[in-house]
Amino acid sequence: MIYLIIHSCFFQQETDILLKRKDVSILTNMQKCGVIGVGFVGATCAYTLAVSGLFSEVVLVDMNHKKAEGEAADINHGVSFAKPCFVRAGKYADLAECGLIIIAAGANQKPGETRIELLHRNRVILSSIMEQLTAVNRDAVLLIVSNPVDVLTCMAQQLSGFPAGHVIGSGTVLDTARLKYLVGQKLGVDSRNVHAFIIGEHGDSELAVWSSANISGVDLDDYCRITGVTDPTAMLHQIYENVRDAAYSIIESKGATYYGIGMAVRRIAEAIVRDEHSVLPVSSMIQGHYGVDGICLGLPSIVGKNGVEAVLDIPLSAEELGRLQSSAQKMKALIKQLH
Ligand code: NAD
Repeated sequence: MIYLIIHSCFFQQETDILLKRKDVSILTNMQKCGVIGVGFVGATCAYTLAVSGLFSEVVLVDMNHKKAEGEAADINHGVSFAKPCFVRAGKYADLAECGLIIIAAGANQKPGETRIELLHRNRVILSSIMEQLTAVNRDAVLLIVSNPVDVLTCMAQQLSGFPAGHVIGSGTVLDTARLKYLVGQKLGVDSRNVHAFIIGEHGDSELAVWSSANISGVDLDDYCRITGVTDPTAMLHQIYENVRDAAYSIIESKGATYYGIGMAVRRIAEAIVRDEHSVLPVSSMIQGHYGVDGICLGLPSIVGKNGVEAVLDIPLSAEELGRLQSSAQKMKALIKQLH
């Protein structure tokens, strides 16, 4: 009996200490993930994350709470076919412990709307999200998916004041996957054995790094020659254009793109949660790489539990470097216009 009393006093003290510690800094849990904005993209991400086996809980936040509830119920109904994961609709306070938070809220471009007009609308949405989010959680890694993703990643970093590596954008991860798929199809090889990157803006000024592209160590031009491609330059240029314009063509046929990005987000989440140090072309604040400074762009980066841990300086040809720098200039001009 005496033992029990002493023991419960001890635990009471310990609980008090834990609660006090929690007041100062809310500890995050990498098994808990938040998704803000569960439209086409956010809901698909919630689905891929829930079935990934990476998380025990996925919290969905949307200004349309009823939609978040519906998406959560729909995914939960299939969870017994995957690994245990509880998906629920929540408020910002429910994101307090999430180690990873995906931001997929935002408007899509309306017919006739300019990119800068869309950017203004999404800036307002992002500001309100960041204000509510940082009030409850200052430790998570943020993954921005909403477009224009590079500019919004810059803004999220500035608005949050989080360490630069903790605020990342999906960057050109999806574009790179599209490139690998198309090259793999053309050359009859598994897309996982295609080693090539799309870098720069996730958008019209992105570029393909062909100079170091290879198929499991075989130079891409040599591989094209071996497989009988008569005009590799024309073929690769056509592939690049198809990648660059993929979103336009999918939106024209079905109104939105979401499966590819949902799978890309799952892959980025995996690299973070499992602390894999994987190389992925996510977007993050660039400081001095390739003469670019103070803006976010998609570049091959080491991704682990702290988000972006390093940005790699992969070799570029003079032409590729020039195109990357003009992509960066374009981003800078867009941000300046916004101010
Ligand atoms: P959508 O219109 O279907 O969904 C947007 C969701 O955001 C809606 O559910 C809406 O209620 C919610 N929302 C809006 N304002 C909010 C706020 N203040 N707080 C919380 N929720 C809010 O759009 P979508 O098709 O899902 O696209 C979402 C974003 O993802 C767009 O910006 C789109 O361009 C972008 N996207 C990015 C990539 C990429 O590769 N990075 C790929 C596809 C789409």
